[in-house]
Amino acid sequence: MESKDSQSVKSALKISALYLIFGFVWIYFSDSVVELFSSGNPHQLTLLQHYKGWFFILITTFLLFLLMHRFLHKGFIEYTQRISEQKASHDRLAQQDTLLRTIVNSSPDAIFAKDMEGRYMLFNSGAGELVNISPENVIGHTDKLLFSSEAAKKIQEIDRLILAGGVIQNHEEDVITASGKQKYFWVTKGPLLSETGKTFGIFGISRDITTIKENEQAIIKAKEHFDYMAHHDLLTELPNRTSLIEKLQHQTSDIENHPFALLFLDLDGFKEINDSYGHRFGDELLVRITQLLQELFPPDTFISRSGGDEFVILLSCHKDKNIIHNTMFHLINTLNNPFHIDEIDVYITASIGITMYPSDASSAEELLQKADAAMYNAKNMGRNTYSFYDLQFTEKALHRTTIATQLKKAIQNHELELYFQPQIDIQTENIIGMEALLRWTSFEEMISPAVFIPIAEESGLILQVGEFVLMQGCKTAAQWAKKGFSYGRLAINVSARQLTHIDFLMTLDRIIQETQCDPTFIELEITESSILENPEQMIALLDIIQAKGFSISIDDFGTGYSSLSYLKNLPIDKLKIDISFVRNITHEAKNQSIVKTIIALAKGLGMTALAEGVETFEELNFLRANNIDSIQGYYYYKPMSFEKAEELFLKH
Ligand code: C2E
Ligand code: CA
Ligand code: CA
Repeated sequence: MESKDSQSVKSALKISALYLIFGFVWIYFSDSVVELFSSGNPHQLTLLQHYKGWFFILITTFLLFLLMHRFLHKGFIEYTQRISEQKASHDRLAQQDTLLRTIVNSSPDAIFAKDMEGRYMLFNSGAGELVNISPENVIGHTDKLLFSSEAAKKIQEIDRLILAGGVIQNHEEDVITASGKQKYFWVTKGPLLSETGKTFGIFGISRDITTIKENEQAIIKAKEHFDYMAHHDLLTELPNRTSLIEKLQHQTSDIENHPFALLFLDLDGFKEINDSYGHRFGDELLVRITQLLQELFPPDTFISRSGGDEFVILLSCHKDKNIIHNTMFHLINTLNNPFHIDEIDVYITASIGITMYPSDASSAEELLQKADAAMYNAKNMGRNTYSFYDLQFTEKALHRTTIATQLKKAIQNHELELYFQPQIDIQTENIIGMEALLRWTSFEEMISPAVFIPIAEESGLILQVGEFVLMQGCKTAAQWAKKGFSYGRLAINVSARQLTHIDFLMTLDRIIQETQCDPTFIELEITESSILENPEQMIALLDIIQAKGFSISIDDFGTGYSSLSYLKNLPIDKLKIDISFVRNITHEAKNQSIVKTIIALAKGLGMTALAEGVETFEELNFLRANNIDSIQGYYYYKPMSFEKAEELFLKH
């Protein structure tokens, strides 16, 4: 664009040039024209010269007017245009300025600028709200006015970097304000540059994210708490099973294979303590045992509570079994001291199974499984002891699980049936009862109840198995009654877990209803152990059962720890002397005296006594001589099938 100066020079030159040309043409031609018209008369010549002068002035004035009008008019228009443009741009700037000012002042985010010395030049109301100080009090002051001295120092350091040309964007800053409040900001900062590129301060925008941050922290805290709960047992505060598995997975994935021993500790008879003294007492005992374990093992030992009364302890770097033998000896000895809780001295023992990593197993799951098998062995060894894992335990455990799975199917596949063994009156030799004994034929092979009943009890399957036996037994008894067979009562074995189950009475009623069996046809054989768990409750339950018409006998009598005190309160009709006392009765004085005592006890309590497993005439004679009431054994009959039993009844 041409500048205004050069334009006016051009216009002036144009006017002068035109004047020059006109003047030149005038001088050159006007005298010749005057001469032509004067015809030599000097007076006329003077007059014409005079007119020529006037005419020149007239023409040049007119020309001057035309030219001036043209150029000056253009210049004026341009000038006024320029003025109005300037005004418009000024207005625009002013408008922009107000807009910026409005934005800055109404922004909830803090917008600020500081000079080279860190003094605030701009501090909007958003910034004021952030630190709770009115903006006009901040202008001219540094961050020392707004924040704790430590925070101000930190900000100063960042500002120094920015003054050196740096820029920060969405930088998270945590500061303490001058009033002592913890605040979190998102900050964007950069240098203020002049037109020549010189830094003259710092600009910044920041946002208060304290609430966001606090929420975030609350979530993190909640997560941590949740994580703690998911990994710890809340009663003992020990790591729980989840932690244990994670720990084991970590330890077993370590490439260096650091050896360690896994101790699987299961308390003996904890359930009984819980039932007798209550759960609060049981909980306290668990806490005490935890403390004892923590005192016994080195402080960094991993001790976890992996189940109700189960603890798993990891002992690192133990290749030497002797050290573990000593530790176990010490642990078991210590545990044998009573715990004093609520004025009661309570005794508890533990059975411990031990596996060694990596020699026994290489995975978490396998280590635990094998330790469980070893613990099971410790229980079988009579509890209150420990056992290292041995390969044969796995086979046994596998056998147990196979049987349990097959038994589940056996119930549905009708592989179970009842056999019957007669009970004989010693005087009359008449059949006074039949015991129903369960038989399981799987793939033409007979599996002994001595094998599968304990497994069924352990796995809980005994509830289904027991219901099948009760149903089948009652059905048979009702059927035989209809046929008019007289054999006394049908004795049905009821296991402890079945009897103590909350639904037992209901099941019994339902079966009686469904089979139309008169309870007076049935005798229930229970074991001493089912009474021991909770004698008071058992007396009440058995009273109800007896009132329904059932009779009750105690099976395997003499092997448990029946105490006379409650025996006399129980509604028992018959004591069955265990097979182990009958065996060798003719030449074992101890068995003789036990059998004599049991018979005398039965008589004294108004019950009858039956001897199981009588095989020989000598055994029979001894029992007869000592006033036994009845006999069950191979001497008379082995257990027989339903058909064989019916044949027997028909013969009699
Ligand atoms: P138990 O109730 O003590 O049953 C007596 C066991 O002794 C039966 O073994 C029987 O066959 C056996 N026996 C009877 N007389 C003689 C004899 O003269 N000599 C020898 N050596 N043994 C004799 P079985 O049928 O193998 O039952 C074993 C155990 O399995 C039973 O002992 C009982 O505890 C349990 N059982 C059997 N059937 C059932 C059932 O239906 N329910 C429950 N809960 N347990 C059952
Ligand atoms: Ca029995
Ligand atoms: Ca028995």
